[in-house]
Amino acid sequence: MDQLVCPKCKAAYPLDDRRWKCDCGSCLDIEFAAAFPLAKIKSRKPTLWRYREAIPIKDNSSIVSFDEGFTPLLEVDIDGRSVLVKQDHLFPTGSYKDRGAAVLISKVKELGIKEVVEDSSGNAGCAIAAYCARAGVRSHIFVPADTAAAKSAQIQLYGAALNWVPGSREDTARAVLKAAEKVYYASHSWNPFFFHGTKTYAFEVCEQLGWKAPDAVILPVGNGTLLLGAAIGFRELLTAKVIKSLPKLIGIQSENCAPLYQAFRRNLKEIPRIVKKDTLAEGISIADPIRGTHIIDAVRESNGDFVIVSDAEIKDALKNMAKKGYYIEPTSAAAIAGASKYLAKSKDEVVVSVFTGHGLKSTEKMLKIVAESRHD
Ligand SMILES: *Cc1c(COP(=O)(O)O)cnc(C)c1O
Ligand SMILES: [Zn+2]
Repeated sequence: MDQLVCPKCKAAYPLDDRRWKCDCGSCLDIEFAAAFPLAKIKSRKPTLWRYREAIPIKDNSSIVSFDEGFTPLLEVDIDGRSVLVKQDHLFPTGSYKDRGAAVLISKVKELGIKEVVEDSSGNAGCAIAAYCARAGVRSHIFVPADTAAAKSAQIQLYGAALNWVPGSREDTARAVLKAAEKVYYASHSWNPFFFHGTKTYAFEVCEQLGWKAPDAVILPVGNGTLLLGAAIGFRELLTAKVIKSLPKLIGIQSENCAPLYQAFRRNLKEIPRIVKKDTLAEGISIADPIRGTHIIDAVRESNGDFVIVSDAEIKDALKNMAKKGYYIEPTSAAAIAGASKYLAKSKDEVVVSVFTGHGLKSTEKMLKIVAESRHD
């Protein structure tokens, strides 16, 4: 039966409950039987909605879409090795977060909700604001005061109410929880519908490989909205017998903020409290990931690993990609820097990664990198 389920206390709620967390305080998952009618899928438009029977939205009339998805899977040379990279920086708002926003805001529309709150370091806020604009839903986006100018401009121009919160990303998370007591929380980290959008990454990768799973998938990870979504997607394809095995999930963190890496390496049951330092990879600078233990479990189940990268390595990866014509934001380059490290130890594998966000969103950081390079 389709329902919301709590991974912690096992409570279940109807899929149409207007709730984003369990009464026990835990985040929720969706229990849902995804189907993959391959011939039908092939005949449809190249958007993420081609996997219609695998997306938990009831009526087609609820769908809020810009015909997004089915991004190119391009072969990119990384340190002399060929990696297949999903071009998810080419989504309508400039990041893969549109996968999650498309499905979550479709659900918001289906539930008849007219107003939502969300918090973000930038890209999730842009995605939620754009899809709310398309759906005619009022959105309030909470961001840290130091959010990139391009991202905060984008959020405001979509018509969202932008709330700057002084302090850290964690202060922003606390501020939105207060607002979420009164208004529906369209959260990319709490709300399970978001993950049932990001899972389409896995569907597209497998379809583009001729309905085969790759050997390893390298993804940047903070709150895990892409990594956990991919884990759900590959698992659903395996359950439906479309693929024969799960790929290894390789999570990339910045060494300046790596709570998941530490928990994994030290075999901890809980995510350790860390003191994070500034990093170029603002999008994955998450000290206290909501679904932290689930991310660790998903990586472990896949026989995967975590890799950390320094700001210097991120900068190098960003410059190398730009020289090949790929303009990606620093958070995105973190995954590519991680891929370099992973590839040094892997042989003969089909490796897939992703460009998560567009470089045009990070002009302040890009200008600094350009200025520094002049002195190299
Ligand atoms: C959101 C985001 C990520 C991944 O972040 P999670 O916190 O793991 O969901 C990676 N890159 C970019 C550009 C992002 O916006
Ligand atoms: Zn519960």
